[in-house]
Amino acid sequence: MSDLFDGPDRPGGPDRPAPADLRVEIEHRLRRLLADPGTAGATADWAVATMAGDAPELADETVWTALDQLGGADLETGTGRLHGAADFAAWLAEFRAGRPPGPVGPAPPGLPLTLGGRPARYLPAGERVPPTCALASFDAEEDARLADHPRVRRIVLRHRPRWVPTVQCLHWSDGADPRALDELVAEGVATDADFAGALPAQAVDLTCRRCGVPSRVLLAAPGTALLDDEPARLRAHRWVERCPRCAGRWTANVLEILPDAAPPGG
Ligand SMILES: [Zn+2]
Repeated sequence: MSDLFDGPDRPGGPDRPAPADLRVEIEHRLRRLLADPGTAGATADWAVATMAGDAPELADETVWTALDQLGGADLETGTGRLHGAADFAAWLAEFRAGRPPGPVGPAPPGLPLTLGGRPARYLPAGERVPPTCALASFDAEEDARLADHPRVRRIVLRHRPRWVPTVQCLHWSDGADPRALDELVAEGVATDADFAGALPAQAVDLTCRRCGVPSRVLLAAPGTALLDDEPARLRAHRWVERCPRCAGRWTANVLEILPDAAPPGG
């Protein structure tokens, strides 16, 4: 918990007048409340008094929300306090998240990349996503299976600005060697044109309608709005048209049959 107390030590009591930067004071109060829930009453009194004042920072939604929460820090339910340490920690995290430049977390994986005008992280061959990285619907086993695939690369990005980042697979069928792309990205010179043959993809279990045998496959995942010219990309891509077990024709847009265990050789 020491990272919660990494700021300057600020002396002072609950009746101290608000300093010039109200945001600094709010963070200080939140941290002290988390360290000592016994300060809830004094903190709530300070927050309510501050909200009745005329500090210019009150126009900031993040400031107002935090003060509103602090103003209820000592609410009673009849059996005890309504809010506890978990709430105070959440308020502090929320307040920090709403403040530029934002929270400082562990270093993101991969290499920086701008794709389609959006910031992303590029994962070159073999790079694993660290377990500390918070990602939406992430499957570490699947990721390991795709990490060295000769026709696949993975990028980490947010599909919408405030969404949790996710790993997005890209697949090539035009013979392009992603190892060359690894070098371009590492040198910081890759552009959208270097992703010309790529199609967004997702790994799924697909059961053949004819023989009933499931295969782990990569399906095209259009509609991600990640890369432009999507209709042209779909037309140009080569598909795996038949089930490897019975040679029956598939109806889904299969890009690649994935191995059950070890990735295929280069
Ligand atoms: Zn089949």
